[in-house]
Order: sequence, then C-alpha cells, then structure tokens
Amino acid sequence: MEPELVVLGTGFHTPSRDRLEVLANCAFTVDGKGRISGIVPSDDPRQGEIVTGAEARGILHRLPADAWLIPGLVDLHIHAPQWPQLGNALDEPLEVWLQKYTFPLEARFADPDFAREIYDDMVRTLVAQGTTTALYFGSVHREPNLILAEVCLRHGQRALIGKVAMDDAETCPDYYRDADAATALAETRAFIAELRAMQHGLDPLVLPVITPRFIPSCTDALLAGLGEIAREMDCHIQTHASESDWAAGYVLHRLGCSDCTALDRFGLLTERTVLAHANFIDSTDMALMARRGAAVAHCPMSNAYFANAVFPLRRALDAGVEVGLGTDISGGFSPSIFDGLRHALMASRHLGRGTDPSLAPEGRGTGETPLSTVEAFWLATAGGADALSLPVGRLAQGQCFDALVIHANRPGSGLRTFVDQDRPEKVFEKLVLTADRTAISDIWVNGRKLI
Ligand SMILES: [Zn+2]
Repeated sequence: MEPELVVLGTGFHTPSRDRLEVLANCAFTVDGKGRISGIVPSDDPRQGEIVTGAEARGILHRLPADAWLIPGLVDLHIHAPQWPQLGNALDEPLEVWLQKYTFPLEARFADPDFAREIYDDMVRTLVAQGTTTALYFGSVHREPNLILAEVCLRHGQRALIGKVAMDDAETCPDYYRDADAATALAETRAFIAELRAMQHGLDPLVLPVITPRFIPSCTDALLAGLGEIAREMDCHIQTHASESDWAAGYVLHRLGCSDCTALDRFGLLTERTVLAHANFIDSTDMALMARRGAAVAHCPMSNAYFANAVFPLRRALDAGVEVGLGTDISGGFSPSIFDGLRHALMASRHLGRGTDPSLAPEGRGTGETPLSTVEAFWLATAGGADALSLPVGRLAQGQCFDALVIHANRPGSGLRTFVDQDRPEKVFEKLVLTADRTAISDIWVNGRKLI
C-alpha cells in the first residue's frame, strides 16, 4: 500500500524503560489508517525510491538537520473542568481544596456553552504542548463530557474521557453530585453508549472511561456497580488512590483496607485501570497492581502541594507496576508533560538523595537510584501508552503515528544544539531537559497533521 505521508529524518524513542533508540536518517512511512507502515534506514536501497516517490506526490516531510521526530506525549491525569483555575487555588489541603474551589467550579460545567468555550481553549492548548493522548476526568453531568469528546475529535487529540461518578451525600455537596448510586450508574452507561455512537470508525480516537472520583466520594453500591459496568462494557477505568494521608486514612477507616485492595474487591483494578497518584501504596499494593496490570499516573507537581510525600517511583517500577505521567491539571500548575517529566526527575532525586541538610548525608534520602533522563522520557511516552494499552508512544511499525517534531535553535527556546559537536545521545538529553512548546514545530495524531 502506498504511504500517505513520509517523514525523513532522525527519530528518538524509548522502546523499553532503560533503552534509547536513535533511528538515524530514516524514512518513516505512514499508511492511510494513520499507522507507521515502515521505518526505512538510509542504507536500505528502498529509501531513495520511497523519498523520490513521496516528493513527487507532495507527501514528503523532510526534517532539518537540527530537528528530531519523537513520539507524542501522553498525559494520564487531567481534570478538564479545572482548566480555568490552572495556576490558582494551591493554598489548601486536598479535602478543603475540593469543597472550597473545585466542586463550585466543576458545577459550572452544567452550562454547555461554558463547557464548549473552556474545553475548546484547553484542548487546543494541550495539543500545542505536545499532548497527543490525554486521559481526562470530566465533570459529573453527562452532556459537557460529550462536548469535550466533540472538541477532542474536532481538534484531533486522542483522548479518553470519563463522566465523574460521585454520589456520597456525606462527602459531596448537594449541588454537585449524582443523586444516588442508581442515577450515577445509569448516567455512566448512557455516557459510554453515546460517546461510542459518536464515532463510527473501527479505530475510535476518543474512548470512554469509568471514573469514580475516589473512594471517599462514592458509596459502596456505586463502586460495585461501576465494577460491573467496566466488565460488561469493556472499558478503561480511572480514579484517585492513596493520594494523601487524609485520603488513604479515610479509606482505611471506612473499608478497613488500602485503596488498591478495596478497588480490587469492587472489580475496579484491571489491566486498563489508571490510578492517579498512589503515593502511599505499599509493597502489597504494588504486587497486587502488578498482578492485575493496573497503572499509576505519577503527578509529581501536584504531589508537592497535596500529598506531602513523593511517590515511590523506583520501588513501583522495580515491582513491575506500570507507570506514566500526569499533569493533574489543576492540582499541578503546568499543562506540559515536559514540565511533568522534569518534576519527576527532581522528585526522584529528592526522594533518593534527601532533602534536610541537618541530617547526615547517608541518612538524608532513601538511597534508591534516581530516575534517568531516558526513563523520564519513557514515562512521558511509552510508559503512558502501556498504562492505557494503546498502540502509541513508540516509533515502530504498526504503531499509530502520534508524533512531534522537536526543532532546536528556534527563537525563544532553550534547546540549543551544535550539530557538529553533539552526538545524538547528547541531543536527546538536551531535548528531555530543555524542550518546551516553543521547540515543537509539527504535531501529528493518527497520521493527521494538527500543527
Ligand atoms: Zn486528580
């Protein structure tokens, strides 16, 4: 089959957690379904023919010498209706923050015009930041979440969207919750069916997600019902788990076990589950998650404000838990996964090496090995993709062509390179630590050019 697009240049990706692969001077061919159909190196005699043919058909995208192709970024935790308060409201602990700022704001999304305007701005901004796949918490009401799906389809962002389910009258305000468990379950089923009906193709770009907010805001009846829907309707699942002392303590007090154990009992810990934060999971929780194939959305920026602890990333990875990154908009203040991966690097160094200078160096940190730049990039791409079980996050044959071009030396960008001096591995390191919005020159999702 003739390609629909050919990108000629050097690509970086991390097929596994500790391995950078440099695909030097390759022709990346993309088929009509938006999949990578081939990666042809310069010493392959077919490359010349492919490039000539693509040039003649006007489908060749040739990268300059100081530009590199990378997989698109995957954000595993975004609260879409918190977009208006990005960069605000970080002065209270979680349980106060929800009632004081966040529930009143999310309740406003019952107005479809408000939702349409905010979501349009948010999705366009996130795409421009390089987020090609986004896992969204929506709001409680059904309609605005369908509006979010429409907006993602229009702008071409790959997205997974959940109608938030929260019915516990003890912890959720009357003005912002599902009336009861039965209503929440019926609305969740309807949302899944309507979202799926919006896309007629075999490869939907936007997927529905079962989304209990977190155990403290849901009754047992709701959690059990959502577990049944997940099984019946074959859906992704997302929720928050073990985020703060308060949240973990609440679950222990009410259910007598950890978040992970409770979610597992309710049928909510599966291969397609993503748990936001999970800072306070222990080795038993990690073993359970690894057995089930459930993943963590690591949100280091938000954790600094709301968790008073650093997620034990190294221990989780070593225990076989799948991990990707989340911005946690607006618990985190940046919309960029590049910022997220740098905060993950810093958080990991602080945890491993220590923070309090009054302690002796050997007792200052946990001693575990800090995250490497290769691992941080993997979390932001392939790690996030694996958490969602989606064929993105790598530059490999058969993967969806969700990709960015990072162009160095653009005005205003800190990413400067000296092509004659910098080996590809050095360029990669610079890219991981300094690339930002200003360095992104091109964005594709599923082979469709968005920027
Ligand atoms: Zn969150």
